[in-house]
Amino acid sequence: MAEEEAKRGSGTLAVHAGTDGAQPHGTVALGIFRTSTYTFRDTAELCAHMTGERPRMEYGRYGNPTQAAAEAKLAALDGAQHALLFGSGMAAVTTTLLAMLRQGQHIVLTDDCYRRTRQFCVQILSRLGIEHSIVPTTAEAVAAALRPETRVVLTESPTNPYLRVADLPAIASVLRGHPAKLVVDSTFATPINQRPLSQGADLVIHSATKYLGGHNDILAGVVSGGPIVEAIRDLQAILGGIVDPETAWLLVRGLKTLPLRIAAQNATAQRLAERLEADPRVARVYYPGLPTHGTHEVARRLMSGYGGVISMELRADLAGTSRFIDATRIPQIAPSLGGPETLIEQVALMSYFELTTEEREALGIRDSLVRLAVGLEDAEDLERDLVAALDAIGPAHR
Ligand SMILES: *Cc1c(COP(=O)(O)O)cnc(C)c1O
Repeated sequence: MAEEEAKRGSGTLAVHAGTDGAQPHGTVALGIFRTSTYTFRDTAELCAHMTGERPRMEYGRYGNPTQAAAEAKLAALDGAQHALLFGSGMAAVTTTLLAMLRQGQHIVLTDDCYRRTRQFCVQILSRLGIEHSIVPTTAEAVAAALRPETRVVLTESPTNPYLRVADLPAIASVLRGHPAKLVVDSTFATPINQRPLSQGADLVIHSATKYLGGHNDILAGVVSGGPIVEAIRDLQAILGGIVDPETAWLLVRGLKTLPLRIAAQNATAQRLAERLEADPRVARVYYPGLPTHGTHEVARRLMSGYGGVISMELRADLAGTSRFIDATRIPQIAPSLGGPETLIEQVALMSYFELTTEEREALGIRDSLVRLAVGLEDAEDLERDLVAALDAIGPAHR
């Protein structure tokens, strides 16, 4: 099966991988196995399980058939040997890092990364005697930060909010001969737009809350890769950041349409990015599919689509930018991304509310920065709505 699967396209894998085969009662759809524990017929069966002679489900924290089906589908999509599901993206990030690092070791983290991931390294890992370096998303910066005791290099790609695409083969070549593993948070790319494991990454993490679930209705996370995933599973059995069967089922349902949704979101985002970049009221658009983006060449080399998130700076102050956001009719004001509904946020207020304009500028976040997570609405409707909302900025252009 694995060999045949390797030849199949993402659409076929998304529909069939991991969820085909003998379902109880011949159902086409996967069943939800809502159970916290499993019975053994007799002591002989228990012993055969314990010795590994006939391994099977035992207790909900160690696995569930619905979860196993979702993991098989995710592994196929990521081109991985193993995948492990979690109750959230952050459970995947934290459990993975705790499994890979111990006292006296060091992690290199690229900047422009998910704020909670950075907080975990800065506030929690440091308490355990694990040091960190936060560097720009380039192979040169990673090389300069490497120490003999570095065990993990963690990068996101594309990054948030500036959508920089990491040159994974270049970073992987810097790590050749070094014990550090390359871990890529690929939430913004998804396996449809990029396969980091084939570009030098050792592990790939996704917040399945975003595109993989795809409907703004679940929280989940996943880590995919080689045998190290099974070591992470052993730690999950202790830490307990597991996914429940119903969520795993919703993820399987969402994954079946992942390639279609991503294709639509890629296309709409590209069209909107080009239109917004041409508008005099927009100072700058950050989208890896635009030739003006700093990492466009890397994106062209490594990605097959540029994703559904666009960031832009308006020619407006804090209040003018808020007027634009409030004037849009289709996008909803919310954090997150990857669902059918287009979501919009003024980054200064959604993620950096407690800071002053000057403090935000020091972090590289302008008051006029807007992040648009494109959904599945018609591109023309979104375009008309966004262009009309730009009128609300008013004459106070910067
Ligand atoms: C959302 C997100 C996370 C965290 O995932 P949750 O499912 O919200 O816990 C981690 N990394 C990136 C890039 C994200 O966008």
